[in-house]
Amino acid sequence: MIAIPQRSIRRPVTRSGIGIHTGTFATIVCQPAPAGTGIVFTRADLPGAPEIRATLDAVSDTRRGITLGGRTPVRTVEHLLAAAAGVGVSNLRVEVHGEEMPILDGSAAPYVEALIEAGIADQQGHQPLHTLHGPVWVVNDTAWALAVPADHLRITYVVPLPATRLGTQVVDVDLDRHRFVLEIAPSRTWGFAHELQALRQAGLARGASAGNALGIGPEGYLSTPRFPDEPARHKVLDLLGDLMLAECVVHAHIIACGAGHSLHLEMARRMVERLER
Ligand SMILES: [Zn+2]
Repeated sequence: MIAIPQRSIRRPVTRSGIGIHTGTFATIVCQPAPAGTGIVFTRADLPGAPEIRATLDAVSDTRRGITLGGRTPVRTVEHLLAAAAGVGVSNLRVEVHGEEMPILDGSAAPYVEALIEAGIADQQGHQPLHTLHGPVWVVNDTAWALAVPADHLRITYVVPLPATRLGTQVVDVDLDRHRFVLEIAPSRTWGFAHELQALRQAGLARGASAGNALGIGPEGYLSTPRFPDEPARHKVLDLLGDLMLAECVVHAHIIACGAGHSLHLEMARRMVERLER
C-alpha cells in the first residue's frame, strides 16, 4: 500500500453561486491550511466566524445532503468534500459567506477545477490510512452497503430507478485520482421530478433547476445526461464525500445498493470502529 502525503492548496480560490436547497447566493473562499488541520468550514458571514470541522460527529442533517454544525450550520458540503477526497487534498479552510455551499453545476467538477486552479501541494507527513480486517455492513429496509477488505478504494454502486425506463444502474470503479476526475466528478445531482414539489414544501430543493440537477421522469432523463449511468456515478461521488468525514483514507471495496447519505454515514461509523491503523 502506498502512503498518501498530506496535501493542501497553494493559494486561495473563490467560487460563488446559489445553494440547491436554500436557493440563496453564497461565496466561498478555499484557503490553504497546515498539515493536520483536516477540512474546516467557517461561517465567515457570522460574528466571530464560527468554525466547523468536517467530522462524522459534526453532521446535523442528512436529508438530501450533508449539513454540518448545529446553530451555525453549513449545508450541502458533500460535493466539495468529494472533490477534496478525489484529488487527495486533506487540509483546507473553507470560508463560507452564507449558510449553504454553492451547488454550481450540481457535480463536483467545478470544485475539482477550483482546487487544481489553486495548486495542490504535498505537505509534511502522511494522511491516516485505514484498511479493513473483515466485512462490515449496514442495512435499512431494501437499502444496504457492504465493505470488504481491499488494498485500495473501490466502489460498486447499484441504483434501482423504480417506475422509470432507466431500470437499475450499476457502476464499478477503482477510485484513483484520474478516474475520479474524468468519470465521477462531472456527474450531477439528480432527482425524481414527481418528488420536487414535496421537497420544496419541506424546505428543500428551492434552488434546484435543470442547470444544476438531472431530472428523472417515468420515461427517463428530462435533459441530456453527461453519462448514460450518471445517477449511479453521482452516488459514488456522494459516498466518497461522505467517507471524507471519517478523516482518513479508506482502503476497502464498498458495495452499496439504493443507499443515501444517512446509510453512507452509518457505514463510515461502522468502518471506523472496525478499521486497522
Ligand atoms: Zn450529491
